[in-house]
Amino acid sequence: MIVMKFGGSSVANDEQMQKVLNIVNLIDGKRVIVLSACKGITDLLEHIAIKAKDGDTTAVNQITEEITARHTDVIKQSLNKQCNAAIDDINQYITQLTRILNGVSFLGELSLAAMDSIYSFGELLSTTVFYHLCKERNVNCEWKDARLLITTDSNYSSANPISELYVNKLNETIRSSTADVIITQGFIASNENGRTTTLGRGGSDLTASLIGAAINADEIQIWTDVDGVLTADPNKCDDTIPIEFLSYKEVKDLSFWGAKVLHPQTIMPAIECNNIVKVLNTNNPTAKGTTITAVPPENKFTINSIIGKQNCHLLGIMSNHLNIPSSLPVLRIGYSNYVYNVLLDDNEEVAEFVKNLNRSEVTLDTTASAILLAGQNLLNEPIRLTKFIATTAQLLGDIKLRQLLCFSDNSIILVVEKCDIDPIIRSIHKVIVRKQY
Ligand code: ASP
Ligand code: MG
Repeated sequence: MIVMKFGGSSVANDEQMQKVLNIVNLIDGKRVIVLSACKGITDLLEHIAIKAKDGDTTAVNQITEEITARHTDVIKQSLNKQCNAAIDDINQYITQLTRILNGVSFLGELSLAAMDSIYSFGELLSTTVFYHLCKERNVNCEWKDARLLITTDSNYSSANPISELYVNKLNETIRSSTADVIITQGFIASNENGRTTTLGRGGSDLTASLIGAAINADEIQIWTDVDGVLTADPNKCDDTIPIEFLSYKEVKDLSFWGAKVLHPQTIMPAIECNNIVKVLNTNNPTAKGTTITAVPPENKFTINSIIGKQNCHLLGIMSNHLNIPSSLPVLRIGYSNYVYNVLLDDNEEVAEFVKNLNRSEVTLDTTASAILLAGQNLLNEPIRLTKFIATTAQLLGDIKLRQLLCFSDNSIILVVEKCDIDPIIRSIHKVIVRKQY
């Protein structure tokens, strides 16, 4: 079994939904399809909820019409025999949404619980349209309400899944279904009392990995609008290419440093169950995409990607009991002979922490910029590592290297004096992409 998740841009309109269906149809065997809301709809729902709270009926009506039209347009353009049934379903959801919005208007209050209920219509609507599209094309499919599949706590707006409460049931439901294609919603779930919750914005990836982990899927595919996880931020480097294989560890590191790859939290369930995660492009389905596994197939020295932090704080602290609040954005910690090297992302809390340090323990305190180079098997080929570091050091030119941190097999960090690091990133990136090391 595989889980295929399609994001908002993949189901943005009629043309995109057809692409999704073609991709789904190319695969044999049972598939669970997890969909986001159509592009922009979740934002519109947030907007409409606020307008309802403010009692702005004109805006509420206008946005309701817009949301309805976005879905009925797709239906009219792509459905024939299923058209009426689909429009009926959409109208029923719009009626329910209107009822909730009226309640919010009446109270002049928008609770997180109410917001989650309002958010849920985005995914309920997109999956309903897609379900009818599948029916139209005679796909053996079934629509499942994700709120009956995944149970969370009541932390509305970013609820935490409680696996003990749903995994067996979810597994049983999916396995006993006779459909080839099971369609469900990303992002939404429910608490133990059946009230709608959401997993946090962008939570559909998490839904896909929760389901993938629960059913022990052969593969979890995250379909998006890029050819995979890229070697660098495409806004900074114009020659980025997709990375073919990534390890879980690299994904964690990269996202922690702010790369817009999958949020590590979203693939945690998959990591724990050792599922294969693939990032693929709906608009270019034959591209290889990125395959994420615990250990990539060819475990040899490779630098896969680069990401920078303009403002960091580098500390040396002489202590044998360093207490760093867990809320601080620690980019890396190293330890030797009672001296901790701590690299922190810069924010007010960090500034406060640094200010209050016991000065007699501080051996180094400086603002800096930092570059993370993520890859594979970095410590087992010292000659290549040295060559790579020598090449990158040359590219620094006049910029002072403050520290070189290499604690693990999958990352090297260059801490340099505070500077504009984008040009350095661009030149090191060229070395990475051309594999000149
Ligand atoms: N529709 C939700 C959002 O826009 C969830 C998702 O797309 O992952 O945040
Ligand atoms: Mg997303």
